[in-house]
Amino acid sequence: MFDAILIDKADDAQSVSLTQLDDAALPEGDVTVRIAASTLNYKDALAITGKSPVVRKFPMVPGIDFSGVVESSDSPDWKPGDRVVLNGWGVGETHWGGLAGKARVKGEWLVPLPSAFSMRQAMAIGTAGYTAMLCVMALERQGVTADKGPILVTGAAGGVGSVAVALLAKLGHEVHAVTGRPEESDYIKALGATEILDRAEFSEKGRPLGKERFAGAVDVAGGQVLANVLSMIRYRGAVAACGLAAGMGLPATVAPFILRNVTLAGVDSVMCPKPDRIEAWTRLAADLDPGLLESMTHEVPLSEAIPTCERLLAGQVRGRAVVPID
Ligand code: NDP
Repeated sequence: MFDAILIDKADDAQSVSLTQLDDAALPEGDVTVRIAASTLNYKDALAITGKSPVVRKFPMVPGIDFSGVVESSDSPDWKPGDRVVLNGWGVGETHWGGLAGKARVKGEWLVPLPSAFSMRQAMAIGTAGYTAMLCVMALERQGVTADKGPILVTGAAGGVGSVAVALLAKLGHEVHAVTGRPEESDYIKALGATEILDRAEFSEKGRPLGKERFAGAVDVAGGQVLANVLSMIRYRGAVAACGLAAGMGLPATVAPFILRNVTLAGVDSVMCPKPDRIEAWTRLAADLDPGLLESMTHEVPLSEAIPTCERLLAGQVRGRAVVPID
């Protein structure tokens, strides 16, 4: 038996509880992993609160990511004792996820955990941090180098934002950070940002083209915020867009694209091909300062995971929340 969070649905009403499950209940898969840690990402909070239809199958163990040790394997790629990490692939949405003592998954979904990281550090990074790295890689692929000008990061006090600020600053970029929490300014500056900008400045409808301020941006917000960010990108700059914290819409014009050659690069972590995942985790081992990672991380016991989700969606959780399991 192992502890697990379980989401169920009856008569259109979703319920969620901390419960105990038997190994026999685990879903199909060729690798069984003893989970060491999981995390609370924005998507986990949407799933657990039921605020968005993230969960596609009931009952569901949420948790879109985990780190752990292979317990048994029918896959030629993995053997008992291997240290692994999993992000996405529908885990926690259509296949039982990481907020549990064990998971059974497809071996092809797993990535070897770089030796630089402990299980806890892997989940301090989690899907939010790995997505931040994918965003940095997307900007690099568009030729956004440190000499081109400042980079903007939205949602800077959140998970993706905190890691993006730390990574970009370490890579030599001048980082300007947008936050709705001015009280977190010292925290964001300690991660490496040099300018703190008020979210309110980005939340109202702006002009199709504004002053060319930033060479690039990592955006977790979407909505009006992303539209305004696009209008401020310098000629031939790029925005890596990964989130919807401000909304799904994009009330923008084509002006930044056709007049300034701006690129809007979409970033998805869930179905991201394996070579990019391995590159992202390898780069995180090299480019993320472990001290800064620790400074943005706090622990949430499995027993507190459910109530923490409301706070996370309300934008009240700073940085990264690790859920230790083992
Ligand atoms: P967090 O909750 O940790 O951070 C989100 C941050 O966004 C908040 O901390 C807040 O930062 C900011 N924010 C909240 N509301 C608004 C708003 N109305 N307008 C502008 N900014 C706002 O979440 P994560 O970092 O885990 O995820 C961030 C986003 O990225 C989510 O939308 C998530 O779904 C998405 N995501 C997408 C992935 C993908 O594969 N595409 C993978 C991982 C995440 P502050 O207080 O500093 O303003």
